[in-house]
Amino acid sequence: MKIAFLGLGAMGYPMASHLVSNHEVVVWNRTAAVAEKHAAEFGTTAASSLAECSGAEVIITILPTSREVDEVVDRLWPDLRAGLLWLDMTSGDPGTSRATARRLETKGIHFVDAPVSGGIPGAENGTLTVMAGGSDQDFAMARDLIAAFATKIVHVGETGTGHAIKALNNVLLGANLWLAAECLVTARKFGIEPARALEVINNGSGRSFVTESLLPSRIVDGKWPLVFKLALHDKDIRIASAMAHEQHVAAPILALTSQLFTAALQALGPDSDYIEVTKYAAGMSGEEW
Ligand code: NDP
Repeated sequence: MKIAFLGLGAMGYPMASHLVSNHEVVVWNRTAAVAEKHAAEFGTTAASSLAECSGAEVIITILPTSREVDEVVDRLWPDLRAGLLWLDMTSGDPGTSRATARRLETKGIHFVDAPVSGGIPGAENGTLTVMAGGSDQDFAMARDLIAAFATKIVHVGETGTGHAIKALNNVLLGANLWLAAECLVTARKFGIEPARALEVINNGSGRSFVTESLLPSRIVDGKWPLVFKLALHDKDIRIASAMAHEQHVAAPILALTSQLFTAALQALGPDSDYIEVTKYAAGMSGEEW
């Protein structure tokens, strides 16, 4: 199958590499040098222009937001043909993806929103969780392709539901990060160092992915790599917050999480790593790690 893969960022770069064993893969990236590097490293073909991607049977996008996805749809629009499958793996906006799907449908193009969870390690190892939204027929077209980089695939429902549950998942991640930081600050002020606190929590009922997999290497070992931009996590939380608002859901913790992330984003900057919100949370009490 001829696949065009658009967006070789922290996630897209390793994800695209899993497709080459079974498919003809053309890669496109806004900064072309990244696509050329990918081609040299994995045997994909670097597209010399975006237009070159329109001949593919499948287009996969994993870009920052739905806005960039729509920009790419606009640019490719005149050359897009019926029968194409558009698999959008961006953590996008469900309302926007529904509008995009309706627009593509007028040309007979299938659209599946299929955002991912599992971070860079999941992308590198092909062990991502993928949550897909789309019709049964469109999901059936997408499933085998998704399996190239995922070990868990859930067909959530109609178009937009993949993006919706992804945003909600990332609210839980964000709220968890913030609350864990508050608890570790409180523990430290009480005389319990973070390493000892985490040892207890991670063998107790308060443990989570945040306390087990994220915080020990940061707060205890002092390593703060950039793995997921804070601006992107903030975007997910704002999408979820808007969803709750639109549906008249009373969600005060979600609203507060959104406000806290906005404050952290303003203080830390869009390109800081999302886990650095725990530094900002600690700083509110005069602590640092
Ligand atoms: P990155 O910031 O690492 O990469 C973004 C990619 O989008 C780059 O290829 C960049 O190109 C491209 N891009 C940016 N702006 C534009 C534009 N205007 N037009 C075309 N291309 C553009 O992001 P991630 O890979 O981390 O994230 C991608 C998506 O995956 C996001 O929706 C994110 O929320 C989601 N995600 C990220 C995870 C993570 O752990 N990082 C985990 C799960 C989901 P260029 O090289 O030119 O900058």
